[in-house]
Amino acid sequence: MAVKVLQSIHVPHRKNTEEMAPVRFDSVKTVIIPMAMHIGAPAKPVVKPGDSVKVGTLIGEAGGFVSAPIHSSVSGTVKKIDDILLSSGSTCPAVVIESDGNMTPDESIKAPEITDFDSFINAVRASGAVGLGGAGFPTAVKLKVDPERVEYILINGAECEPYITSDTHTMVDNPDRMYTALAMLKRFYPKAHIIIGIENNKKKAISVMRRYSDNVENCDVCALPASYPQGGEKVLIYNTTGRIVPEGKLPIDAGCIVLNATTLSFIGKYLMTGIPLVTKCVTVDGSAVKNPQNVIARIGTPAKDIVEFLGGFKEEPKKALYGGPMMGISMPDLEQPVLKNTNAMLFFDEKGCRVPEPSACIRCGSCIDACPMNLMPTELEHARVNHDIERLKALKINLCMECGSCSFVCPAKRNLVESHKLAKLYLREASAK
Ligand code: SF4
Ligand code: SF4
Repeated sequence: MAVKVLQSIHVPHRKNTEEMAPVRFDSVKTVIIPMAMHIGAPAKPVVKPGDSVKVGTLIGEAGGFVSAPIHSSVSGTVKKIDDILLSSGSTCPAVVIESDGNMTPDESIKAPEITDFDSFINAVRASGAVGLGGAGFPTAVKLKVDPERVEYILINGAECEPYITSDTHTMVDNPDRMYTALAMLKRFYPKAHIIIGIENNKKKAISVMRRYSDNVENCDVCALPASYPQGGEKVLIYNTTGRIVPEGKLPIDAGCIVLNATTLSFIGKYLMTGIPLVTKCVTVDGSAVKNPQNVIARIGTPAKDIVEFLGGFKEEPKKALYGGPMMGISMPDLEQPVLKNTNAMLFFDEKGCRVPEPSACIRCGSCIDACPMNLMPTELEHARVNHDIERLKALKINLCMECGSCSFVCPAKRNLVESHKLAKLYLREASAK
């Protein structure tokens, strides 16, 4: 199928774990499960210290329409409910559970009965599904739209960030789950053209998905150029359908729903088994890690436990990230747990995370050429330094997806993306006033 391509850049792939089968880590002693692992209202804890829980027991109910329920990832005893510092800098309550090591499933777990569209949406909501590629938007909210409006369902299997291979493994290792979910989407959004977008350097994933998609009507696999940020939502929509999401609107306003490949796979698994979202495949890599690997970990497992399980660090990490090096967020400490939307945990030694000193802008325009949203990063930085809110609005800072391409290509090593994040903060403060 024809592929249109927005501006993109080439980043080193460093997919060290691509050929390694994921390993399971179940012997965690204590899990820390934050009630805010999604966009929207945090979940409200429904357990208290001393309660016994099993795998899949509801421990947090959705805190509103845009929210998601949260389930225990181990069997054991609730130790406490304590505030945890999140990588965003905010805090939220977290349920701390000591595992009994048995991983006993909750008796209530059973595959949902899907009879109509509403029961499908209710099942997705009850599963605890959120965007597992990083965004964390509650999936039931995304899917609860008039099916007549849905012209395309795009499955995002691009996985364009360096190091991360967890989506690719999900597609290759569990195609039956993907197929179950695709068939269900076809049932409830019959008019939609389903497109599975995968970068063309992931040949195995493309071939497996093609084999399965052939059995789903109006479903294609689109081999996309291996460039960054191919997996950005708006980029994927444009590159596969040629459509542009109107400013300030959602993908559905362009007739599209975008689901991450791992989210789709999880929905398939839930429809088959009724097991809610309690584990996650996480790529663990980076220059400080002795044995990089994909780990299927219990949600709430502390980062340090996973690395220890893999054999520890080569040397003390100086930087730990949730997600990839382009868009990842720093972890405040190694106690930070696996979240629903954690696709990678990367750890870098001093050399691996050294940030070069920025020098003056030489007005080369490389950042402008690299921006997939056609923004002017250097002008945005100038407006931010001058606190010029009107200019920031005119330059459309709101369209910046914080992909980091501008920073990556800048020969003067200016930290443009950091500047854009600050600029958005200024704008939010100004609108609040
Ligand atoms: S971070 Fe923003 S300004 Fe920079 S390239 Fe990405 S979208 Fe453009
Ligand atoms: S890439 Fe860097 S040096 Fe070149 S115009 Fe942009 S900010 Fe200036």
